[in-house]
Formats: sequence, structure tokens, C-alpha cells
Amino acid sequence: MQFVNVIAHEAEKKHLIHTVKENRISHAQMFLGPAGSGSVPLAMAYAQYILCQNKQENDSCGTCVSCTKIQKHNHPDLHFSFPIHLSKEKHIYTSDNVLEYWREILDENPYFGIDDWNLKLGNENKQGIIGKEESQNIISKISLKSFEGGYKVLIMWLPELMNGNASNKLLKFIEEPPDKTVFLLVAEDQEQIIATIRSRTQIIKLPRLKEIEVATYLETEKGITASDSKIIAHLAEGDVAKAVHLISEQTVANFNFENFVNWMRLCYQKNIAKSIDWVDSIAAAGRENQKSFLKFCLNMFRQCIVGHYAGNELVVLTDEQNAFLSKFSPFINSKNIVGLTEAFNEAYYHIERNASAKILFLDLSIKTFSLLQKK
Ligand SMILES: [Zn+2]
Repeated sequence: MQFVNVIAHEAEKKHLIHTVKENRISHAQMFLGPAGSGSVPLAMAYAQYILCQNKQENDSCGTCVSCTKIQKHNHPDLHFSFPIHLSKEKHIYTSDNVLEYWREILDENPYFGIDDWNLKLGNENKQGIIGKEESQNIISKISLKSFEGGYKVLIMWLPELMNGNASNKLLKFIEEPPDKTVFLLVAEDQEQIIATIRSRTQIIKLPRLKEIEVATYLETEKGITASDSKIIAHLAEGDVAKAVHLISEQTVANFNFENFVNWMRLCYQKNIAKSIDWVDSIAAAGRENQKSFLKFCLNMFRQCIVGHYAGNELVVLTDEQNAFLSKFSPFINSKNIVGLTEAFNEAYYHIERNASAKILFLDLSIKTFSLLQKK
């Protein structure tokens, strides 16, 4: 990661570059910023600049041996430490045991949040910790000589999740690290970090990202249209991890809506041949998408009924959805809503239990053909 790829924080970048040029790299620094503000990418860019063998005026070169290794996440002098789900059965005691997952998430979205990380580890409801085995591992790794003869850098993400044992072990080490060692602690909540560690680090505060900064990122890096980027950036409140989630929710909603419109048209026209093509495509979409789609259909039927009896103002929809539904909703009524709801709920039940999607969606199409004719 180069500085140029990190969103905003120009003053902080300038400061960090300056510390390297002036040879005043503090051995323990804390990057303190709210979730999704990009403190991990900034720490990564700083580490890359420190280790780059061909430093440019305002950034690492991005192409030397060292930069290449960092970009592949396998530089022997750049170490990572982060909260993990300890497991005796799976032999998971230290960050190094799950380094593969860490590399994956850095590649997928360097602005990930703690929920993304817990999900990556296999359980979004379980909180990871940094325990005493981790501290021991850090001490033994950092005590070794650097492989490339220069600096050794350790990036620790969320030191606030270090338990008491771990921080006690590390304390002295952070205070008096071996020569040419840099600790970069990347934290969100300084109140949760024990004062003794906090007071031994130089703190770099990162502000929440501005809406315009997030919007520009979504537009240029994620290919989102300018108007959607603005809306998503506003909803995300400066948190890029949240913005990326909103994009994937939007993508799912678009997939479902498009399928719903296509399918309902075919059902209304009783177009068997084209329905079979459509069934093939939804069957190829995978079970989770099929489940999400069936839920979406049930919700749409319900919206149609609410639209019927209570007026459109109770239904929150996009303009496009509104236009379709105002034409479609008269076809959903008291004569068929019970039948449709039952058929779709039953389909959901069978999809969950691994029924054949092709047979199931074809069967559901035929039921829907006749149910839509009831007025
Ligand atoms: Zn380089």
C-alpha cells in the first residue's frame, strides 16, 4: 500500500514522511482513528515507506524488492498482530496461525472493520482477543535480527483487545524495544487501552473521513455512479467499511429486484419457454442468493398489499421500484395473497433443505401463473 492509495489524511501523511526523511521515526506510535477511517491502510503505507529501498520524495517506490514483498504481504521484517479467536482444537494461539485470512482481508478491502474480520475468522458474533501467547510470539519475533538488515516494523490492529496478561508482557518491550524496531498500534478507542501503554506511544489522531472523501473513493475505486456514491457516503458517516457493506446490500437488492420484475412478467404472460430459461439462471445463482430472493419476493407481495389498502405513502421504495409496483400491485390482492405467501414460504423451506432449485422454481412459476390470474 502506497500513501497515494490511502484516502485523504494529507497532513498526517506529510508528517509521517517527514519522520522518515529526518530520521526521527518514533519507536512506538499509535494511529488513533474511528472505524473505517483508514488507519490500517495508513500504517501499511508508512511501514512500506520505512522499508522501501528506493524512497521517493512523497511516497514509497512501489516496485523495489521490499515494496513488492509488502504488497504481497510477505515481507519478513513487517509483522502483524491482531485479535483472533483462540482455539485449542484448531491450534490457533497467535496471529501467525491465521495469517492467511489476514492477507485475504487486506487484499479484499483494506478498510475492513471488526465485524468483517470476525466473520472472516468464521464467527461474526465472537469477539477476538490478543492474548499472552501473542505477546510472547511478538517478543521472540522482534528480538531476532531483521532479515533485510533495516527496520523491523510491527503493526498491531486494535490493541484495545489485548488482555491484561498480554499488555503486561509487552509493556517493557514497547518502552525499550531492540534497535531499529517500530511498533505501530492502530486503535479506535484510546479509553480502552491501558494508560501505561498509551503513555508510551506517540499518538497520531486521524479524523473521521468526510462524506466527499468517501464518495470520491467509491466513485473512483469501486466504480459506483456519482449520485449513488453521494448517497452511500452520507449513510456511511465517514466509515468506509460501512460504505462497502452498503454497496453489497445495494447490489443484492438490485439483483433481487431485477429478477422479481423479469419473473413476474413471465408468470403473468404464462411464458413457459422463457420461464425455463429464467429458472436456469436463478438455479445457477446459488442457494444463499435464492433464499434472499424468495424473502425479497415475499416482501414485495406484502408491499403490494400495503400499497393497496393503506396508500403508497406507507411503502418506502426507490422510484424505479415504485413505477413497476404501481403497475404490478393490482395483480396482488385478497384472492391470491394467502396462496402466494404459502407457496413462497414453502419454497423457502425446501430450498433451505437442499431441494433441487430447478424443479422448485419451475413448480413455483406454474403456481404463480395461475395465482396471478385471480382477481
Ligand atoms: Zn520501494
